[in-house]
Amino acid sequence: MYRTHNNGELNINHLNQNVKLSGWVQKIRDKGFIVWVDLRDRYGITQLVFDTERTPKAILDKASELSRECVIQIEGQVIERESKNKDISTGEIEILVQDLVVLNTSKLPPFTIEDQTDGGEELRMKYRYLDIRRNPVKQKLIFRSQVSMAVRNYLSEQDFVEVETPYLIKSTPEGARDFVVPSRMNEGQFYALPQSPQTFKQLLMVGGLEKYFQIVKCFRDEDLRADRQPEFTQIDCEMSFVTQEDVLNTFEGLTKHLIEKTHGIKVEEFPRMTFEDAMKTYGNDKPDIRFGMKFGELNEVAQHKDFKIFNEAELVVGIAIPGGASYSRKEIDKLIDWVKRPQVGAKGMVYVKLNEDGSYKSSVDKFYDDKDLKAWAEKTNAQPGDLIAVLSGKANETRAQLSALRMEMGNRLGLRKPNEFAPLWVVDFPLLEWDEDTQRFHAMHHPFTSPKAEDAELLETSPGEVRANAYDLVLNGNEIGGGSIRIHDKQMQSKMLNLLGFSEDEARKQFGFLMDAFEYGAPPHGGIAFGLDRLVAILGGQESIRDFIAFPKNNMGRDVMIDAPATLGDDQLKELGLELNIQKNE
Ligand code: ASP
Repeated sequence: MYRTHNNGELNINHLNQNVKLSGWVQKIRDKGFIVWVDLRDRYGITQLVFDTERTPKAILDKASELSRECVIQIEGQVIERESKNKDISTGEIEILVQDLVVLNTSKLPPFTIEDQTDGGEELRMKYRYLDIRRNPVKQKLIFRSQVSMAVRNYLSEQDFVEVETPYLIKSTPEGARDFVVPSRMNEGQFYALPQSPQTFKQLLMVGGLEKYFQIVKCFRDEDLRADRQPEFTQIDCEMSFVTQEDVLNTFEGLTKHLIEKTHGIKVEEFPRMTFEDAMKTYGNDKPDIRFGMKFGELNEVAQHKDFKIFNEAELVVGIAIPGGASYSRKEIDKLIDWVKRPQVGAKGMVYVKLNEDGSYKSSVDKFYDDKDLKAWAEKTNAQPGDLIAVLSGKANETRAQLSALRMEMGNRLGLRKPNEFAPLWVVDFPLLEWDEDTQRFHAMHHPFTSPKAEDAELLETSPGEVRANAYDLVLNGNEIGGGSIRIHDKQMQSKMLNLLGFSEDEARKQFGFLMDAFEYGAPPHGGIAFGLDRLVAILGGQESIRDFIAFPKNNMGRDVMIDAPATLGDDQLKELGLELNIQKNE
């Protein structure tokens, strides 16, 4: 037996008991005649004591040779500590050691195994198994496991069936590139890894399962964006005989359950907002509604004077920054530089100070008088003491720029509180999105999303205006889930693929299996998928998803611990029939 207790378990109630403990050596304090060792395992730290009077000499000698992170097993007696540590549960006791076995030695770790480590990101990733020994990482993995378990329990109770769908499949269009796997047995042919199990879950509905879920890995070969992983996990769900309302209610229930389970907070009914309103009010389809700073559109009240920049703009729009009237000239210049950064891309920024005494001071005093500025203040809901920041230009771009400024100010002013939960359903997304580069429509969600019945006629005349039965669940400014009511009619699915530029032949080749299935009594169905990594991070009050993933990839999509991706040997390439391709490329 390696241990009778774990290292987080013993306290004053165990005094005088004989115990066995195992774990890693966290710290050694060697005074010669007395040695203290902090012994750590997953559950905590227990202090061991060895001394000349009470410990056999051979054991004391062994103790003074221990080094950090070696693995030991001890036997000893629980005694009361002289100087107690109130910060940890085992802080009132220590173990007077009688026997010590070294189970394994350890090289000196490349960084300290402590909550605040001296290891940089890259080093921690390379030695991830050591990083996982640290509390902050370990706790996040345990938290993730608890959230996953809560999801499983909740959905199982609601009668959902967990089904595994295959990883070696054919392309599923979720808007990214596929990772592909060469087939040895079918030379020259490739599987694609699923960007999501979308088509399979729809086939499960045709299969009559009615309620499906899966906590599943998805793979998307996307260009690098901060805090994105090429492989990530979804809570993927699908239901039959449901309307959009049914789906929203079911998954609002799940989300409420998770927030309550992890934080003890009961959230009221989730508000809903149309895509159009979200864009107009927050410049963003995943607004953080924990704070205000709503957009005020100013075309009407700013395009009647001689200020050319505004007059020529498609959209003039502003927000009121709380307390901003007290910013110095220098601070405002810095803010202007910030919106002009290439990542944001504004050409400039007009500002109005709404002083505490009710007076106005603006960067466009030449063009606008107090009466004009008062109208701007009304539109942006500015209060005395605020700074109105105004951007102008093409509508979509300007909204995105102002949204970036709003989020930045939300962060700077501490308005995005990690322990506050503000979920929001964004509904009525457009079905299609016009792509300037390829000069054709793309599915905004995916090609299996159904148009709103009342907009169906527009499909022929102005497809860009058709709204979809598609919805996103937004939490604190992050999209945590998205889904739609699907097309379940073969004709409609063909029409959609056609609109998206697939020829009859291509549609058949890529999605023939789905359209065939639709000919055998496909029920009306719809669903949703949550991004588990991000959901867990938000519930854990963190911005970054990395530490909630046991073995994440870096920004270049590399696993620096196992050093992947890697090249293959000639023999393997040959076996896979890839040899020719390589030679061609050289
Ligand atoms: N398959 C979709 C996605 O991965 C989710 C859904 O429509 O259910 O975003």
